Amino acid sequence: MPYYHIWTIGCQMNKADSEQLATSLERLGYKPAQDIEKADLIVLNSCVVRQSAENRVIGKLESLKKLKKRSPKMIVALAGCMVDSEVAGLRHRFPHVDLFLKPAQFANLLDIAKTQSPTAHTRFTVSRPAPTAFVTIIEGCDNFCSYCIVPYRRGREKSRPISEIRCQVENLVERGVKEVTLLGQNVDSYGHELPDKPDLADLLTEMNTIKRLARIRFLTSHPKDMSQKLIEAVASLDKVCEHISLPVQAGDNDILQAMRRGYTAQYFRELIERIRRAIPNVAIATDVIVGFPGETQEQFQKTLDLLSDLRLDTVHVAAYSPRQDTLAAKKFKDDISLPEKSRRLQTIEELQSRIASEINAQLQGQTVEVLVDGKKKGKWYGRTRTDKLVFFESNARCLGQLINVEIKRTSPWSLQGLSKT
Ligand code: SAM
Ligand code: SF4
Repeated sequence: MPYYHIWTIGCQMNKADSEQLATSLERLGYKPAQDIEKADLIVLNSCVVRQSAENRVIGKLESLKKLKKRSPKMIVALAGCMVDSEVAGLRHRFPHVDLFLKPAQFANLLDIAKTQSPTAHTRFTVSRPAPTAFVTIIEGCDNFCSYCIVPYRRGREKSRPISEIRCQVENLVERGVKEVTLLGQNVDSYGHELPDKPDLADLLTEMNTIKRLARIRFLTSHPKDMSQKLIEAVASLDKVCEHISLPVQAGDNDILQAMRRGYTAQYFRELIERIRRAIPNVAIATDVIVGFPGETQEQFQKTLDLLSDLRLDTVHVAAYSPRQDTLAAKKFKDDISLPEKSRRLQTIEELQSRIASEINAQLQGQTVEVLVDGKKKGKWYGRTRTDKLVFFESNARCLGQLINVEIKRTSPWSLQGLSKT
């Protein structure tokens, strides 16, 4: 039996690609290796959205050199956004890597894997997956935000037909999945290049009819593309969770323009208001970049003001990192010092920790529905429809179940409770 090991960093799209690859390998008779040294096939699914992620991939690649020397038959593949169209440079830097695969393009690897597996022609059943799964609905991105490398590495937008997505989700449900997250770098532009031009609201309406599927999420939305029709679909479809991921990136209009985001801070504020009016109890997550070239203290303050006024549930904050080939890297000097970027990042984190602790404290004493993902240190854990992480104790077997939990304690990051069933 051949063994595989997949190491993944980066966004949910990468995680979805890795899940998909693992399923394909298991169908060929591969088993996951508990110990990387025992693997016949190692895949690093990389991310280069920021320099810090790229550095981790490089560290991991370096650490595999010895292993490959010891076991030259082992196949090492580098996949994901680190792989550009031009791989000669990578081949030169990392001669111990056998294969370079662009994001989500695993065909060559699977061809080789077939030859490695003596039982490749037998149809294997794949182990029961987790109760939640990611499903990519649109690849690539057409937006070219000035700081972002994604469109250069993942290419232009390409949506999958509704029928194909439905088939995949039904398959997952058959294997025990209760919740799917529909993924794309910009899910709101789903379908625009498909023959009948379906949109995300149409797709959600279709997914909502799948029996035994309990929950549907989608991410990431783009403020400039989020339609009223979509907001109303989320409000009216019972399986679609009250959870929206809507990156704002900055609170100052000049910075937003330099980022090429296509909206103003005022537009974003009004959009949040419309969403909250239509979907009571909605949880909203956002992303923010601090230290974009030229960002003054006043401009940064506008981001802080926006976040403290809107009081969103989650804020993912990142320090600007210049990325090769992007418009911002070519046009602007990375002129905010590292300590200043860290200070701004920490200021936002402190503000958000206060806001999240106040929002979560309101859940004290309430009963929430949790889809149980696993068990850690004797406690079951899972997420609410609003994506809050909940830990609770129960002697029952709860994995994959929807459990009502009464919240006893709250913190900015998670909730603790007691099962009511
Ligand atoms: N498509 C989504 C959007 O419109 O924001 C998110 C995709 S991006 C891969 C994920 C997050 O990484 C972004 O929201 C942004 O905050 C961050 N990011 C992207 N490029 C960055 C850069 N050059 N420096 C710092 N953070 C960056
Ligand atoms: Fe990058 Fe902007 Fe596309 Fe998001 S929308 S992936 S930030 S280019």
